[in-house]
Parts: sequence; structure tokens; C-alpha cells
Amino acid sequence: MIIVKELHKEFEGNHVLRGVNYHVHQGEKIVIVGPSGSGKSTFLRCLNLLETPTRGEIWFDGQLITDPKVNIDKIREHMGMVFQNFNLFHNLSIIDNITLAPVKLKLMGKEEAKENALKLLARVGLKEKADAYPSQLSGGQKQRIAIVRSLAMNPRVMLFDEPTSALDPEMVGEVLDVMKELAESGMTMVVVTHEMGFAREVGTKVLFMDEGNIMEENTPAEFFNHPKCERLQDFLSKVL
Ligand code: ADP
Ligand code: MG
Repeated sequence: MIIVKELHKEFEGNHVLRGVNYHVHQGEKIVIVGPSGSGKSTFLRCLNLLETPTRGEIWFDGQLITDPKVNIDKIREHMGMVFQNFNLFHNLSIIDNITLAPVKLKLMGKEEAKENALKLLARVGLKEKADAYPSQLSGGQKQRIAIVRSLAMNPRVMLFDEPTSALDPEMVGEVLDVMKELAESGMTMVVVTHEMGFAREVGTKVLFMDEGNIMEENTPAEFFNHPKCERLQDFLSKVL
């Protein structure tokens, strides 16, 4: 579904991604871990072109999306992204947050979008919040809404950048539960997280990113029980 070839990203001389190669297949749940500053967010943001790669190719469903002629907005419709800080529209009710994009982009009529939104809200246990505003919700609830808002676009893949890092500890579980349910439903997912339990349980592959490259890739069992490179061994000894 996604092919990354020799991906480089530099910010004013800071060489952040150093020739990343990777394939994501349909239905996979790729979990990315690694130290702060290693390029995890930059990699994720390059996948949906929130950052413009300096060099290299990204293919999505057979289309070369790093081609400058490509309509980036059209590509992004198929790639949901959930951020650490929710990024909800504070002046809009929850239901309007969810229906805004599909209606504006004419993917659905207003009524259909609303019906779909209510179904998605029910799926994450927040149907009664449809008419609330973001400020009235807890962090965990906001993040569940952010996930629902992405899902309302019917994406082919969901990208998550540390979706639980900004949450109080007691709210982490409710967001991870929604992500687990999404994984079980067959969604293709790429997840940057520090939640090693989630990586072990939900990941089909776990990647270790360090200094702008994927240093190790393995099944969760091998990744955590038999890490090969020294830097990963060191990293795991600090986080587990
Ligand atoms: P991670 O998500 O693994 O913590 P990031 O991808 O956020 O790492 O950052 C990797 C490096 O890229 C850091 O040195 C960071 O300062 C730099 N960086 C990230 N985004 C930008 C940007 N928009 N402009 C300049 N430098 C950036
Ligand atoms: Mg990051």
C-alpha cells in the first residue's frame, strides 16, 4: 500500500531522514519506536506529505505521490492522521468537527455525514457528546473524537503520532482500546508510540528508528525478546 524508497529529509542542513526504505502492506499495523529526535514524526509527516521530502520516493496505492504534479489534498483524504494534541476545531461542536471535511469535500451529503458521525461516535462510546464542544471534553475523549474525525473520511490507512503522549495516565487506556478495536477491524495503521505494551500486542511489525533511519524491524516477539542491534538493546533497557 505504501512504498518508501531512499527517503531523505533535511531541515536547513539538519539531515533528519537518511535514506529510509520501507513497505507497508494492506492490513499491517506498523509500530515505530525510538528515541526523541530520531525522525519518527518527520517520517510519518512525509508519508502524507505534511513535510516535503528532500529526496526519495513515496508510492501510495500504486501512485507516486512525491511527484510534484500530484494533488496532495486528494491523497490526504485517504490517509487519516491523529496527532499528540488532538487538533480539534474549538469553535465547532463535536458533530461539526466530524462532518466538516466529508461535507466540504462533497464526499457525503450533510444528513449522511451526520448519520455516519453518530455511528462512529457510538463505536467509541461518545454518542452523547455529539453536541458538546471540545473544551467540555477530557483529553482522552478529545483524542477519541480526533480518531473518529479521521475515520469519517473513510481512510485507507491511519497514521498516529504519539496519540497518547499528551494524556493523563488514566486516559491512555481508553484511547489505546479504540486503536486496538480499529486494528482488529482490519485498518492499516502506522503508529509512533512509547506504549510498548501496545506495540507488543497490536503491532504486526515493530520498527526501531534512530538517527534518521530504521535500524531494526521485526515481529513484536523477536523485537522485544531478541533485539539485535546494541542501540535497540540499550533503548529497551531504558523503556521496559
Ligand atoms: P521524533 O518524532 O523522533 O522525536 P522529529 O521527527 O520530530 O523526531 O525530529 C527530528 C529532528 O528534526 C529534530 O532534530 C527536530 O528538531 C528536527 N525537525 C523536525 N521538524 C522540524 C521543522 N519543521 N523544522 C526544523 N527542524 C525540524
Ligand atoms: Mg515526534
